[in-house]
Amino acid sequence: MTNEPQVTKHGGGIWSIPVPIPDNPLGHTLVHVIETDAGPVLIDTGWDDPASWQALRDGLAACGTSVNALHGVLVTHHHPDHHGLSARVREESGAWIALHEADAAVVRRTRDVDPSRWLGYLVEKLAAAGAPDTHTAPLRAALAEGRGGRPPGRRAALPDRGIEPNALVALPGRRLRAVWTPGHTPGHVCLHLEERHPGRAGPGGRLFSGDHLLPTISPHIGLYEEPDDDGSSDPLGDYLDSLERIADLRPAEVLPAHQYAFSDARARVDALTAHHAERLSDLRALLTQRDLTPWQLAESMRWNRPWEQIPFGSRTIAVAEAEAHLRRLVKLGHAEAVSGSHPVAYRATG
Ligand SMILES: [Zn+2]
Ligand SMILES: [Zn+2]
Repeated sequence: MTNEPQVTKHGGGIWSIPVPIPDNPLGHTLVHVIETDAGPVLIDTGWDDPASWQALRDGLAACGTSVNALHGVLVTHHHPDHHGLSARVREESGAWIALHEADAAVVRRTRDVDPSRWLGYLVEKLAAAGAPDTHTAPLRAALAEGRGGRPPGRRAALPDRGIEPNALVALPGRRLRAVWTPGHTPGHVCLHLEERHPGRAGPGGRLFSGDHLLPTISPHIGLYEEPDDDGSSDPLGDYLDSLERIADLRPAEVLPAHQYAFSDARARVDALTAHHAERLSDLRALLTQRDLTPWQLAESMRWNRPWEQIPFGSRTIAVAEAEAHLRRLVKLGHAEAVSGSHPVAYRATG
């Protein structure tokens, strides 16, 4: 079966190429192509899979160019649906790869970590969050049998350069500014094309928003994967601050890395802010009834389906989301850890 690539020409030397993500309900990553005086530059590359690679090649051909012609790759964040094919693109074209330092650090750690240590770390983290033995048993069994598993992104490319917040990216003939938007990952960036929109009047330009701002999906916010997490980071707080920064740019159009392009950034930011505010107040209400571990809190939260129907891997993601909201509530002074509890439980304050 062959699928014709549905490349979208956005005008002003910008295209998007849908690169499929195998076995994932998201469907595809929108890889953007920016024409520059030094050759085309990609924003993100897509999942590392033969079919995805072929889709990227076909897509570039449909844009009238090729992998060999690429001048550089700007990566919005380290996740494998964005950074997966970067190494392959560099190998074939000699293009540089740029990533924000905070995400480059995640890539370095993931490449260096011994797989069994990574699994041990995951088991420890889940147990500390109050996960029951039934949830961690398969992981512990794998660990005992020496099936270390492979952390995602072990083959991810080390970048050649950083992306400096607030600075213009050195793209000949274009005016593209990096906006650091931590939250979804510690080094997520949006890229603001400070040029007049080819189809719309007024200032504002276009914003490549990665996973930070999507038309209908609320991006996953968990705790950052820090080996020595001392409780000081606040990813949800970072995310909400970053959302405001984006709305203040008043882009005429948002070009996200999934779904489709849209125009009203302010309305989308307001909806996401309201969503998290509501979630935080629901969670605080739950914590006034009884002390809860992050795991128990995740079980009690509203999800898109009943907890019993949430599969194993998604529960791990759900508990990370609960932890990020708890961290925010603690920072706001609305919740605190119950001293002496193990695994640590939380209660509402104030
Ligand atoms: Zn992502
Ligand atoms: Zn993504």
